[in-house]
Amino acid sequence: MGKCSKDKRDLYYRKAKEQGWRARSAFKLLQLDSEFQLFEGVSRVVDLCAAPGSWSQVLSRSLPEGSATIVSVDLQPIAPLPGVITLQADITHPATLTNILKLFGGEPADIVCSDGAPDVTGLHDLDEYIQGELLLSALTLATNLLRPGGKFVAKIFRGRDVDLLYSQLSLLFDKVTCAKPRSSRASSLESFIVCEGYKPRHGWLPESLTLGKMNLPLDLESTTAGNTDRERAIAPFIACGDLSDFDADATYQIEKGVGSISLEPIQKPTAPPYKTALEKKRNGILR
Ligand code: SAM
Repeated sequence: MGKCSKDKRDLYYRKAKEQGWRARSAFKLLQLDSEFQLFEGVSRVVDLCAAPGSWSQVLSRSLPEGSATIVSVDLQPIAPLPGVITLQADITHPATLTNILKLFGGEPADIVCSDGAPDVTGLHDLDEYIQGELLLSALTLATNLLRPGGKFVAKIFRGRDVDLLYSQLSLLFDKVTCAKPRSSRASSLESFIVCEGYKPRHGWLPESLTLGKMNLPLDLESTTAGNTDRERAIAPFIACGDLSDFDADATYQIEKGVGSISLEPIQKPTAPPYKTALEKKRNGILR
């Protein structure tokens, strides 16, 4: 399928290119912000799993120029963006926390967001497990980085145990909401948890810098072990963004004319997974 037909298929993909966003995911953060006013009074932000960088673009365009520090982290190199400090790192690695804290001069963050998704293997259980680990790492970083009252926004895939996740999160935050932006396909289990009002547990001190490891202020194993109904919680689920806006699942046919001209990507992938395969093929190692 050519890029022209994809332009026609997915209006958010097309609009992202027209408006200069590196990925269609930009609309998800914009729609979450329009519902939750995420960026109000924010000056230190961590964008986890940020490549190619459309959330970081939204942050850099939304926050006051010069007075905000935005640190964006990904396994992949992120092409430079104005007002954004990029860090190529694994969010599951303990050294990543220390490196982010250094960039903030030891000051806490106002908001930590994560749009993390692993490369899918197609093995459902394994993919679900890796996604869960990624979310846990993002939450661990958030609890070590956030100021009291801070916010955590992360992508989740609503599965069997999502109510347990809500109950664990509500021990750490005043308010937990599950939100589905209009630009996220209704056919996908993807949604976002928006956690407001971080409340560090009594006596909790992030010990990461002294111990060289990341700590969670909760023993999540023990909160899930009992698995009783009492421990399950239901978070409010809301749709956000203009509901009369484009349907992310629908196919739109662009009228012939300017709108039908194919547009180049705003930022080509810096280290696409297929690069190694192509090199191997070129060198005759792969057939
Ligand atoms: N929010 C991004 C944007 O708007 O451009 C899109 C993020 S993309 C859906 C998911 C990202 O998660 C990928 O770039 C991937 O490299 C990153 N990722 C997956 N596992 C990671 C890990 N362990 N540490 C850091 N980044 C990771």
